Amino acid sequence: MVDVTVESVNTQEHALILDEFLEIGTPAHATYDRPPNPDMLDFARAGAAVGGTSATLEKTRALAEYFRSLDDDDLRRAAVFMTGRPFGPSKRSTLGLGWSALSKVVGAISGRDDDELQLLFRKHSDLGDWAGEALEARTEYGDVPLDEVEKTLEAIRTARGAAKAAPLERLLRRLHPEAARFVVKIISGEMRIGLSEGLVEAAVAEAFGQPVTKVKGVHLITGDIGETAVRIKHGLIETSEVTLFQPIRFMLASPVETAAEPFGRMGAEKVWTEEKYDGVRCQLHHADGRVELFSRDLKETTSAFPELAENATRLGHAVLFDGEVLAHRDGRVLRFFELQHRLGRKQVTAELRREVPVVLVIFDLLYLDGRSLLDEPLEERRRLLEGLRVEHPFLLARLEEATSPSDLERIFADTRERGHEGLMVKDPASPYTPGRRGLAWLKLKRPLATLDVVVTAVEWGHGKRKGVLSDYTFAVNDTATSRLVNVGKAYTGLTDAEIAEMTKRFLSITVDDRGWSRMVKPEVVLEVAFDSIQHSSRHASGYALRFPRIVRIRDDKPVDEIDTLERVAELYERYFGANTAEKLSEVAET
Ligand code: AMP
Repeated sequence: MVDVTVESVNTQEHALILDEFLEIGTPAHATYDRPPNPDMLDFARAGAAVGGTSATLEKTRALAEYFRSLDDDDLRRAAVFMTGRPFGPSKRSTLGLGWSALSKVVGAISGRDDDELQLLFRKHSDLGDWAGEALEARTEYGDVPLDEVEKTLEAIRTARGAAKAAPLERLLRRLHPEAARFVVKIISGEMRIGLSEGLVEAAVAEAFGQPVTKVKGVHLITGDIGETAVRIKHGLIETSEVTLFQPIRFMLASPVETAAEPFGRMGAEKVWTEEKYDGVRCQLHHADGRVELFSRDLKETTSAFPELAENATRLGHAVLFDGEVLAHRDGRVLRFFELQHRLGRKQVTAELRREVPVVLVIFDLLYLDGRSLLDEPLEERRRLLEGLRVEHPFLLARLEEATSPSDLERIFADTRERGHEGLMVKDPASPYTPGRRGLAWLKLKRPLATLDVVVTAVEWGHGKRKGVLSDYTFAVNDTATSRLVNVGKAYTGLTDAEIAEMTKRFLSITVDDRGWSRMVKPEVVLEVAFDSIQHSSRHASGYALRFPRIVRIRDDKPVDEIDTLERVAELYERYFGANTAEKLSEVAET
């Protein structure tokens, strides 16, 4: 390798533009080997150029120049790094290296005392910029290609605890301080050079002569700016092509409130319904015995669900499934609570697999044996999916057709009866649109039920609610003992004017003033909505409503007509109790 001076490096086309904005504190003696490919210092120069101007066009131009100078692998890395992330979305991206560990390493290499370091930090208020100056004339000013930076980041990610510092220190010692500045920025997740993801997309578009809408379209599919940049570079602008093992963004659903809405919104005469399963979203890619699973945020989760991965190898087809992972034992779906035991684990023990086995309820097929199916109508995708005749642990989402709002009402009621929170309504003629929350998929979720309750105690509010009685403990009627038993406490749902009015009322019906709280005569009836019911030892009723909110004040309703404890128990049993699993087992068909 040839020794070249900094000046001769600057004769490179892109560096010329960048140097207008950049002052690198390079000691006079510094020379460095120039590798054939641009390295971390070039990245830093590009980053500094972007940060050195507030003009969007200038930022885009500088970045585009830089992107053009890179080979595919570096382009992939640089585009991701520029967004202030060490990894693309398909890797578990937490480095697990905190601010204090990071600053300790920088401090140690700099050899400066704490006072000096603090003074410098106050000057910059940015970890990266601080590191850049603290390390001036303290490092080797070496060339470090981006792949080595990436390898170091990976080494940091996989090292445990204090061992994370060593690979970082080795890297920082080798770098030019300006390059170190940017490595620290990437690690701390804050570039602070005024660069949004949208600008990186614009730079990719400019670099490779494609319209920005194409870049955005491809990015919607890949969810990964690095992969997007490489595809755009090679003119792969087809947005309906799926590449196996490259996760694509999930299609999302928009909420609707009533069964009448979907028909109007979709402009369709018939709609399809599927249960809204309460598990975790999952994308499964399989070809020739290789299997990868991805979560909703496109992280790879293959190791979390080994039974899915193992069985997928027997599918006999190259496929990309979209579906929901559910815990499922002895033919019955288990509650989300049980599935939670399986989530976020690196290793799944045999015991856990036995206790909480999982299934994948598939509701879409996006790729089959070399063919991308994104543009096919849902009807065709489902036909092909059914043709695969998948077996346990793969199930198909339960599908029904509705041609009128009353059909939908009935299916919705049945779904609720089976213990589901809601219904997905899908347009059978619709393509699969990754990353979009459009109108082709709607979700119909309504509060489970409301209860009419009476207020038994009130509390003074805090903050904005200071000086008003805003927190209401409420009860239902226990007919067995003819007593009121509390089932929850609501803070939300009333307007400020209503709260002011209620404050006067509660002050006038207080039976026991306990300072911050007041027992009141049970006469104010409220209708409350809630998300779920739990067993609770805190309340004498034995139940607590979760996330209750006041729907309205029911002055029309006398206290002796409020809901009963039996009704609460019945709702609990139907939707949340131990028997619910039984009912949930009816949700999926094999
Ligand atoms: P939400 O999280 O309320 O926005 O609802 C959308 C989520 O519902 C999706 O991301 C899926 O994880 C989940 N889901 C459950 N069942 C289905 C289904 N049949 N089709 C699509 N998404 C479903």
